[in-house]
Amino acid sequence: MTHQVNIVSLKGENTVVVVEKDPDSCPICHNNIQPKFVSAVEISDDYFDSIFHCPNESCRRAFIGLYGRDRHTGRFELEKTSPKTAKSEIFPDCIKTLSPTFTDIYNQSIAAEAHELDQISGVGLRKALEFLIKDYLCHQNADDLEKIEGIKKATLAQCINNYIDYEPLKRAATLATWLGNDETHYTRKFEDKDINHLKKLIQISVGWINSVIVGEELWNEMNAPQEPTTENSN
Ligand SMILES: [Zn+2]
Repeated sequence: MTHQVNIVSLKGENTVVVVEKDPDSCPICHNNIQPKFVSAVEISDDYFDSIFHCPNESCRRAFIGLYGRDRHTGRFELEKTSPKTAKSEIFPDCIKTLSPTFTDIYNQSIAAEAHELDQISGVGLRKALEFLIKDYLCHQNADDLEKIEGIKKATLAQCINNYIDYEPLKRAATLATWLGNDETHYTRKFEDKDINHLKKLIQISVGWINSVIVGEELWNEMNAPQEPTTENSN
């Protein structure tokens, strides 16, 4: 909602400006909040910093909103908040056990993105995807050491084409690989796709892998040969 803010210059002069809207989430605890305004300091004619207090009891941290003047309306709009902290992705237990390296690299990539190191985060996500797929295939072929050696040496694309049978996972992993390669190569093939599409495809792959493994575990548990008893013979 539009409101007025008093900003103070280095010389102590006050100016009242019109602001379009305040931050609606905290960059530190990531909760939706109505931040408490503390003060605002002028940077230049077109920019100022607002200091806010997060009202969330478990956070209470101060953060800064950078505002810039809209050249058409003359009003100030929120451009970004800082300090940015990464909101780590919580993966299912099965995925954490399957590939702890994947979860580490994935969350380091998200942290890089939060620090605006977007050129690095895409490369990291591509690496995370390779660990996820290869660790999954090694798990699925645990009793075939020769196959495992082949999986370790193969490229990611070869692994997906040669060893993944489940079509929905194969598609998601293939698309993620294509976008991941865009993050590491000199030229992009998919100009209209970005790192958010890559994250979505990795999440879809994680979902399918989780379903396959958890489903198999339950099948093995419940389908194990049981001693026949008189009570449940029918
Ligand atoms: Zn907070």
